[in-house]
Amino acid sequence: MSAPKASAASPGVSPAEKAAIYDYIIPATAPWSRVIHRGQILRIVDLEGQQAVDTLFYNAHDYRERYSAQDTLLAQEQAYITTGSRLISNEGNLMAAVTANTAGYHDTSAGACSCEANTVRFGHHTRYMHACRENFLLELSRYGMTKRDIVSNINFFMNVPIRPDGELAIVDGVSQPGDYVDMRAEMDVLCVISNCPQVNNPCNGFRPTPVRVQIWDPPASSK
Ligand SMILES: [Zn+2]
Repeated sequence: MSAPKASAASPGVSPAEKAAIYDYIIPATAPWSRVIHRGQILRIVDLEGQQAVDTLFYNAHDYRERYSAQDTLLAQEQAYITTGSRLISNEGNLMAAVTANTAGYHDTSAGACSCEANTVRFGHHTRYMHACRENFLLELSRYGMTKRDIVSNINFFMNVPIRPDGELAIVDGVSQPGDYVDMRAEMDVLCVISNCPQVNNPCNGFRPTPVRVQIWDPPASSK
């Protein structure tokens, strides 16, 4: 696989200084998953900008423990995921921490698109369109998980302002080509991604595009 060069501008943690042990381009509209071991850094790169990356985390040794948007927001007293965010599980444990981020604030309230939701929001003619929920189902089935295991996710690079009346609005993304977010795994986590296929609202700029995932081992001193 040919991959573009790592971003030269890497403020904060700079894992790009040494070679990634894993480097993959998730095609537009496709699912992906991989175990990130404790201490490793996962980077998600929005290669072309304005691409929502729906993301779930599970304890790699016990899938019943998984990312909890509610516990995460409650613990950080902040409505978005950003640099410094600590991703908390449904059992109150720290799963991962956002160590660097060039794209501002990321949503974790608006959920993942589904065929059913699309029909309600955009009309029954959208029923056949591929959706994040199907991506999650496909990927989770590889680990023996089902619909019941899909919980509220993080939407990296998705712009969901909260209006003064409390409404959540999905509006044009602000991420630029090459923007990225880095997370350090604080336990062994299974990360499951749906590279969002939505074309009925602006979350992907009406044009789903590929994203890149990279993993670095921790510095030798912190192993
Ligand atoms: Zn989606």
